Amino acid sequence: MKKKFKLVRSRLLLPMDEKLGLSTRIEDGYVLTEGSLIKEVGKYESGIGERIIRECGDDLQVIGLEKEGGLVEGDIPCLDGVVLPGFIKAHGHDHESPIIGIAKDEPLTDWLDHAVNVFTGFLNENKDELTAEFGVSANLITYTKAKLDDIYYGITSALTHHCNFNKYHVAELVEANAEAGTKIMIAVGGQDRNYDPRILDTPEEAVKRLDDYTAEFGDRERTWILPGPDQVFSNSAEMIKVLKDWANAHGTLFHMHSSEEPGTTAWFYSQYLCSPVEYLNQAGALDENTILAHQVNNTDVDLVVLKETGTSIVHNPLANTILGSGMPPVMEMLELGIPVAISTDGSGSADSQNMLGAARMASQYQKAFHKDAHALPAQQVLEMVTVVPAKMLRLNAGSLSAGKDADLILIDLRRPNLTPTRIDNVVENLIWASDGSEVRWVIANGNILKDDYRFVTLDEEKIKGDIMKLSELLTEYRESHQEIKATGARQE
Ligand SMILES: [Zn+2]
Repeated sequence: MKKKFKLVRSRLLLPMDEKLGLSTRIEDGYVLTEGSLIKEVGKYESGIGERIIRECGDDLQVIGLEKEGGLVEGDIPCLDGVVLPGFIKAHGHDHESPIIGIAKDEPLTDWLDHAVNVFTGFLNENKDELTAEFGVSANLITYTKAKLDDIYYGITSALTHHCNFNKYHVAELVEANAEAGTKIMIAVGGQDRNYDPRILDTPEEAVKRLDDYTAEFGDRERTWILPGPDQVFSNSAEMIKVLKDWANAHGTLFHMHSSEEPGTTAWFYSQYLCSPVEYLNQAGALDENTILAHQVNNTDVDLVVLKETGTSIVHNPLANTILGSGMPPVMEMLELGIPVAISTDGSGSADSQNMLGAARMASQYQKAFHKDAHALPAQQVLEMVTVVPAKMLRLNAGSLSAGKDADLILIDLRRPNLTPTRIDNVVENLIWASDGSEVRWVIANGNILKDDYRFVTLDEEKIKGDIMKLSELLTEYRESHQEIKATGARQE
């Protein structure tokens, strides 16, 4: 039976709380949750466990303890781990995990054509056959695998940019998230030019889709719907305006890819004599409720526009480096006060949802590029995967304090690669020594999603089996289908 209160005590605790100071590190710390919220956070001391046992009675579950009922303070284990907020992925795609390892060593537009567009086209063309084969839609299987990946790496909230054919499959994503027990913001894709003609919308169609999804899923717990036009090159100014107006009218965020690789930026200059950011600004799309993913290619004017409009940026260093897109001027953005979160992008371009790996890459690249070892220290990049994206996505999460959502993880410090970890090097080890796989417990909204490495809400073996089968069917399809050429701006 689910217990109302959960207590986790660990050798180290990182509350990432502004009131305590974001860099506060606690030795022998505890977090007590009540329902979906955090009730107490602090340093564990003699008598605290006894009080909690007395107050919570039989409704208390102690993490890492088999025993139930008749608890005494001496039963409460101090787990050899570090507890911190669940990671918040501010930009990702949940349709890419079956295509990891496909079309590598290719730039963005080639990779889109050879991996993403082939896969989403495959799912669309073979919808009925695949549903008959698996018993449920292949989209649902794909999205559920994405949630498995998220929980594996300790991600408790995600903004999923639901692009291309996926915009027709929001119901399955809502279902996958509900089953997983995570939080999701679904940026519903849209485009009206320079893309596969089968998925082009009119602005009216794109608005109707958002209205319909909001009516159907707007009240679901842990679920938010917002406009997420795919790319600046695939959306006209008219489409962008209409969707931003919808976001303003509904009080939602607005999310989009921007300036991801140099070719697209060059195309904007040739067509419009301005950058994608200037184009977005002219369409009225930039303000403090807009979050742009990537923003790799920046002019000096872009940086001023981003700062003046209050636009936020999500930096995806794994995808940007693997695709050879380049890297955004993160240090300049931060110096100007532009909010920057770090994320993974989809599994296909990043080939992993390892948020600590993304944080490491962000820091490592900036240190090397600027020849400055002081650039982006471990504490700062850890904030950029927790508190910063929480604020950006307006979530009551990303830090551990009373009244916040009970979204937390425990990272195992018994692993050889994390030994020795002490209070003075714990944040540094998470960024530089972790491989991302040491997430031992995941709790979200007060529910256990991963219990001593075991997935609780999702059937790991079934999902992995289905995804393996799906990838085999995709391989057959890739050998026979007609090649898609020239997605995006290159069509011009
Ligand atoms: Zn993306």
